[in-house]
Amino acid sequence: MANTFMVHRNSPAEECFRLGNAASDEFLDAIVLAGSALAETEREKQLIIWLTLQHTNICGMGNVGFEIAEMPWTKAGFDSEKAFILRCIEAAKTKLWWDRRRYPLIEELVIPWLESFGKLVDQMTVEYVNEDELNEWLSWFPEIGKEYILRDFPTCEKHKGMLVSLYGCRLCLEEKG
Ligand SMILES: [Zn+2]
Repeated sequence: MANTFMVHRNSPAEECFRLGNAASDEFLDAIVLAGSALAETEREKQLIIWLTLQHTNICGMGNVGFEIAEMPWTKAGFDSEKAFILRCIEAAKTKLWWDRRRYPLIEELVIPWLESFGKLVDQMTVEYVNEDELNEWLSWFPEIGKEYILRDFPTCEKHKGMLVSLYGCRLCLEEKG
């Protein structure tokens, strides 16, 4: 069962990027590790926390794919938010924080996946930003008593600096299987 990544829901099939479950988890691990290292603003941390939730252990097999437009972008901040995500992808390609993962990522595989995903992000434009996605996502946190995640931005002790989400640390979850 493969995951499909695309810019927005009407993206033509030939512009979609499809990847198996383990591969999807691996390239997203690379982005969220680099993103945890680089995120400074509240918005940047929120975008990385959203990405940490896209994992087979959380979403289920075949459900990790998403539309770039579904990410919690803001219209006013879109240009700098997009530049930040592209910067995280570039940093991921330099293997930033990859050593925090228990099992090594294979760069010959992961770097081309990062490049394919980066092309999708690059094609995202402000016209596809839907702030309802952001507001709905933000509303989950207080509903389940986890608003501190978006206030304090806690990180994992074991995976030094890795941003945690509603389900704790993505890498800890992965190691537990
Ligand atoms: Zn951890």
